Amino acid sequence: MAGDSFMARDALVAGGIDLETLRAVLPRVDPAHVTVSVAPRWFRALWGKRIAAVCMAWGIYVRPEVMARHRGGADPARVAHLMVHELTHLEQWRRLGGLRHALQYVGDYLRLRVAGRRHWEAYRAVRLEVEARQTARLVTSIGSRHE
Ligand SMILES: [Zn+2]
Repeated sequence: MAGDSFMARDALVAGGIDLETLRAVLPRVDPAHVTVSVAPRWFRALWGKRIAAVCMAWGIYVRPEVMARHRGGADPARVAHLMVHELTHLEQWRRLGGLRHALQYVGDYLRLRVAGRRHWEAYRAVRLEVEARQTARLVTSIGSRHE
């Protein structure tokens, strides 16, 4: 399975992300040391249909389609954008600690659900998800302005 993983940095470079900018925004994360691999089938079975990747404390897991997209090199900016999003979750995990990260994430989600939001809407409104989307947008747009 050696061919089934890569380092997050490879996808960032391929996607034209400015690594200096990324370091400034995510100071606790070194993408050269974050492994990206295909999630086992049993793990993917727990994901929602629209989830492309999940970040754990020890690395990023992706769907086989994402791995194929990275290997094929057809849309490197899209894979890089996803990597910045997932690396932001790793930064949050290190900033807050695993327990606080989990409690804030699940707490936000449940509060929103109790307030009547649907699953996908509540998931999208979780503060840690909002931050990850903003960071991915910021770093990707700054990265492309350097071109
Ligand atoms: Zn996310």
